Amino acid sequence: MGAPAVAEASEGRYNPAKSLNPQILYLEEIPAMAIQRTFSIIKPDATRRNLTGKVVARLEEAGLRVVAQRRIQMTRAQAEGFYAVHKERPFFSSLCDFMTSGPVVVQVLEGENAVEKNREVMGATDPAKAAPGTIRAEFAESIEANSAHGSDSQENAAIEIAYFFSQVDIVG
Ligand code: ADP
Ligand code: MG
Repeated sequence: MGAPAVAEASEGRYNPAKSLNPQILYLEEIPAMAIQRTFSIIKPDATRRNLTGKVVARLEEAGLRVVAQRRIQMTRAQAEGFYAVHKERPFFSSLCDFMTSGPVVVQVLEGENAVEKNREVMGATDPAKAAPGTIRAEFAESIEANSAHGSDSQENAAIEIAYFFSQVDIVG
């Protein structure tokens, strides 16, 4: 067995025509694992009703792992910066009022396809449209006070994680 065949196999590009080593054939059968990190917030409506543990349980039951977590009181500036993408929307000011109305729990979640998985477990923004069993369907009070935030892409996850956490805060 030559080194190039091993390297190709570990990268999932094993080509049987290039190697006679049958022991590494199985590598082609293993689906690609996409371990990601995403950013999550347990919003003030949920912390106020003592639902922090229940929300975390939903995330953990879905296979997501909490690798960083902090309970904070968001400042107005932090909320406005975090939701800057929505600053032209009619609900922006009310959203920032809501997000600073009580403690929130900011957290980093890790797992396979974590960004999409977290969005799936949270459900649609509007709890009336959220699938049964999702966090928002179960716990949200309204389209604004909807219990949880989750990054919508890997790119935004990285930005949002860095907004609240430094590398040393994240222990996977
Ligand atoms: P999501 O949190 O599902 O990604 P958005 O990014 O569109 O949803 O909106 C960010 C947050 O702004 C929502 O989670 C919710 O708290 C609030 N929000 C969204 N749409 C409305 C609305 N029409 N009225 C009031 N608040 C809203
Ligand atoms: Mg969003």
